[in-house]
Amino acid sequence: MWCPFCSFTETKVIDSRLNQEGNTTRRRRFCPRCEGRFTTYERLEEVMPVVIKKDGRREDFSRDKLKSGIEHACSKLAIPAEKIDDTIDRIQKRVQSFGLKEIPTKTIGQMVMKALHELDKVAYIRFASVYRDFKDVDEFVNELQAPELPVSDENALLFPFAAPPENTPS
Ligand SMILES: [Zn+2]
Repeated sequence: MWCPFCSFTETKVIDSRLNQEGNTTRRRRFCPRCEGRFTTYERLEEVMPVVIKKDGRREDFSRDKLKSGIEHACSKLAIPAEKIDDTIDRIQKRVQSFGLKEIPTKTIGQMVMKALHELDKVAYIRFASVYRDFKDVDEFVNELQAPELPVSDENALLFPFAAPPENTPS
């Protein structure tokens, strides 16, 4: 990292910390030549896992799909767009936070259920019951089997797919 004061190239990191959201690293740097101090903010690359669909096919994680599913559920309700965006952000970060290479759509669907349950009960019910009947709604919804309650145990959300599928003979 170049010193912004004297262009010396070998500056030293004297402090490094991740911000609260965990997506930006703040580094305090020191230039041994001019003794200047400066701060850099480095955004971590946002790597999203590949989504495993119900039929086993893989596709890239799509924020747009997530967004459209949630926006449909929230349409015409008195929910500020900002809150909807926040919800989408939180789910995306959560998906990312596991650091997995792949994640089933069902798991993402459960996260959406939980988030909507906290956000708005009507949106939650729409997402859980109405939308799963729509053919063109993405598989987040189609794969939800028990929409009555969101998962209350956070850990149960993490790796439900670690268990073998019930209908598959082993
Ligand atoms: Zn310098």
